[in-house]
Amino acid sequence: MSDQAMTRRAEPELFVVGDDGGVHLVVSRCARCASPWFPARAVCGSCGSAEVTAERVGPEGTVYASTMVRIGPPAFETPYCLAYLDVDGLRVLAPVQAEGRSASGSLAPGTPVRLVAGAVGDSAVPTYVARPPIDGGDHDA
Ligand SMILES: [Zn+2]
Repeated sequence: MSDQAMTRRAEPELFVVGDDGGVHLVVSRCARCASPWFPARAVCGSCGSAEVTAERVGPEGTVYASTMVRIGPPAFETPYCLAYLDVDGLRVLAPVQAEGRSASGSLAPGTPVRLVAGAVGDSAVPTYVARPPIDGGDHDA
């Protein structure tokens, strides 16, 4: 087996955690059409240009839409809140957690959130979660 065949591709960096605990997503942005991509990619999915640059977005965002998941995968304790978030022109899906556990209700569109490091379900894989304001922003239990 050649050395090249044994070389494994490293997982791309998905996010970095800032000194303040906020998560910054690593995205690629197209130099031709300005489309952002997450996870970052080498070629723009909109126009096919290979002129993409890496940048970081977040940690602040707002809720586009959210829902309560009542039947989930076995490793996930239900119910939990899942939200689409608008973060610097990018729309990403993230679980919503308050004080390290799932939010008790869905969040109204426009609710400000902050991306922070966290874990989901029984997984030990670090990921990012959305944290609503201290008052929770819940509007539907
Ligand atoms: Zn493009």
